[in-house]
Order: sequence, then structure tokens, then C-alpha cells
Amino acid sequence: MELRVLGSGPAWPNPGGACSGYLVSSGGSHALMECGPGVVGRLRAVLPVRDLSAVVVSHMHADHFLDLVPLRYGVKYGQLGGERPPLVLVPPGGARLLARIGRALDGDPHFFSDVLHVREYDPKAVLRLGPMAFSFQRVRHYVPAYAMRIEAGQALTFSGDAAPCRELVRRRGAATCARRRPARLRVRPASAGS
Ligand SMILES: [Zn+2]
Repeated sequence: MELRVLGSGPAWPNPGGACSGYLVSSGGSHALMECGPGVVGRLRAVLPVRDLSAVVVSHMHADHFLDLVPLRYGVKYGQLGGERPPLVLVPPGGARLLARIGRALDGDPHFFSDVLHVREYDPKAVLRLGPMAFSFQRVRHYVPAYAMRIEAGQALTFSGDAAPCRELVRRRGAATCARRRPARLRVRPASAGS
């Protein structure tokens, strides 16, 4: 399993950086955790959008999903996608929020869903993307938010914006932490920097 840090800035990107975006890959499958401002360009520097298995969003704060707007434009007008629309997995309630944003931006509640395959994940279910198994844990934040544990031989836990809480410790288990440089997990910044 490989983790590439596309962006790790706070809600305002650091100079030359991007907000949250972490590309985790295993066995030819690629999942983008978070799609914050500035992430799509950095993703394209390392992986064609058509090769993306899914975008998985931990919670619906703008700095974690707002680059779905340029992703949508790139797929619709820039032929960035493949034969099937990119799969975008958002937490419960996320699809309705995207519909509201689409209406505000373009007068069209289907602004995202006509171009991207938007689905809400079930936090109680295991989500499989190729060899990677995603499980979710509700964590402490201002809005409903989920930490993700990804297993594919190794295990990785991504906290998102979670405040310190027991739920996160439980979910982390024996996994390495996405925001540190673990010993066994291959971690590298994207070529565009982090
Ligand atoms: Zn947040």
C-alpha cells in the first residue's frame, strides 16, 4: 500500500500547497481521500483521473471536498474521465448537500451527479476498492465526520479533522497514522510537493 500526500494544508492552502488530499494505492486501485482546494491539479500530476477508483470524503467541510467542482468541469469539458464517471463517495447527507451546492452554483441540483457518480457510503459497512477495504468510524468534529481505516495487507488510519477522541483510538488499532511517516508504509509526497 502506498500513500501519496497531494495536499495537507489547513482550510487555507499553504504557499504552493493544497488543502486535504491523500492518494492511497494498492494493487492497481487508487482512492483519493478528500478533494480539497488545489488537489485535482496535484492528482493529475501523478495519476490520470480516469485511473482513479474513487474519491472518498470524510466529512462535508469545504476544504475537504471543494475541488469536486473543477473535477466535475474537467470530466465534463476536459475529457479527464474514463468510460465510467468517477465514483465519489460522500458521508450520509453529503449527496443532498452537493445537490444544494449545485443549485447555488449553476441552478442545477444535478450539477455534480450528472457528471460524477455520487454515492453516500454506509459508515457501518465495509467498502471495498480493489484490494483495499475501507471501514469508517464516526469521530468528534463540528459536523458528522468519519475516520477511515484502510486495510490491504497493511493498515492505515486517516483521522480527517477529528479532535482527539476514544473513537479514533479504537479505529486506529494497530494501524499506522496517515499524518506521520510510518516505518512500513511507503509514503511519498506527490511530485508537485505537499
Ligand atoms: Zn472539518
